Amino acid sequence: MASIRFLGAAGTVTGSRHLVRAGGRQVLVDAGLFQGLKELRLRNWAELPIPPASIDAVILTHAHVDHSGALPLLARQGLRCQVWCTPATRDLCALLLPDSARLQEEEARWANRRGYSKHAPNARPLYDEADAARALDLLAPVRYGVRQEVAPGIAFRFHRAGHILGSATVELELSEPGAPLRRVLFSGDLGRYGVPILPDPEPARAADALVVECTYGDRAHPPGSPADALAGEVQEAVRRGGALVIPAFAVGRTQEILFHLRALEAAGRIPELPVFVDSPMAIDATALHAAHRDDLDDEMARLLAEGQEPLRPRRLAFARTPEQSKAINHVEGPCVILSASGMATGGRVLHHLAHRLPDPRTTVLLVGFQAAGTRGASLLSGAATLRIHGEEVPVRARVAALSGFSAHGDRDEVGRWLAALPRPPALTCCVHGEPAALAATQARLRAAGWEAAVPRHLEELPLP
Ligand SMILES: [Zn+2]
Repeated sequence: MASIRFLGAAGTVTGSRHLVRAGGRQVLVDAGLFQGLKELRLRNWAELPIPPASIDAVILTHAHVDHSGALPLLARQGLRCQVWCTPATRDLCALLLPDSARLQEEEARWANRRGYSKHAPNARPLYDEADAARALDLLAPVRYGVRQEVAPGIAFRFHRAGHILGSATVELELSEPGAPLRRVLFSGDLGRYGVPILPDPEPARAADALVVECTYGDRAHPPGSPADALAGEVQEAVRRGGALVIPAFAVGRTQEILFHLRALEAAGRIPELPVFVDSPMAIDATALHAAHRDDLDDEMARLLAEGQEPLRPRRLAFARTPEQSKAINHVEGPCVILSASGMATGGRVLHHLAHRLPDPRTTVLLVGFQAAGTRGASLLSGAATLRIHGEEVPVRARVAALSGFSAHGDRDEVGRWLAALPRPPALTCCVHGEPAALAATQARLRAAGWEAAVPRHLEELPLP
């Protein structure tokens, strides 16, 4: 009896891990870290219900840490099988997993200093850089569209998901003796249609069972072009004569903003301002975008083939070293500063905020979701001061937000992806969403006559 067990991203958006059992084999689709609320993060410390050494294969949909970040932990606990992913996902994991390990180590050091850990003074990191290196050794790249056998009777193909560089949907094939071939389709995280850099999600493939993400299952993205809104913010920053500080995730959002800035410059809609990318990871991720041309949409491929640099505004400067980062403080007049992290929870953007927030000429532009409790959310709610590095920094800058940027399709875009299915799967599992988004997706699918479930954490369902 084949089955699927939900070891994460069930009833929540984080910690994606789905365990498929068939013919005595076990395949894990995604090995994500739980992020966000403490109650969820504690799940990272819970033992997997099966020994990692017994897993026959891991298949990654993409490199985001909530899909890949448990790999170093599993490697530490004995995972030895291959971890299949696209070539770009492998390269992004090589940036993200060691970084995640450093954050874990930092957190443990901090806990020991404060003595707040239950295990004080010996808080241990969830994993360290050596574990991340062990995990990277297991990565095995597979191109889109190529059928790859991963265990006897189990094979899969990647299809483009359009979510971040290298992201994929997974079409899993299970052939057990005496039973008809069965297909299980995993949406992974689905991207959007008609956005720059990445191609649209490839149409969904026929499947007997489907695991679909529901991040925006109860919402539609606002209409209107984010490029127009960005142009307006750049013009406003120029009018005020100050910096436009954009906290942005290093992978994906930073490159999207760079693309729009370059295109707006080329169209003469904004002046060519100094643009600083202040994040070593963002710099490396930007280079990876140019290196993986297979993963790009036609427009990007054409621009690169013409010898253009679509991710390079004319006066772009990369700040890799701390000295280069500090030198940005001396830049007067209008400029754009892109720096991580995207919710201002850490990273070099904090230095820029500490330096620029007291200046009324500054604009802080929030271009991503700002989770409750983050500095980004405080700025958004109009905080008069912001605590950074132990100091209360007065907020005299203008704070603006652009809501049009998202790496996830909304309910209509996921619906468009599903519409390609020739018939409803016998079972559809709604995952990777908050409860309201999961319920809305389930209700919509049921109304269309589909068999749709919202699995609970650790629930196991038989595969039809
Ligand atoms: Zn993702």
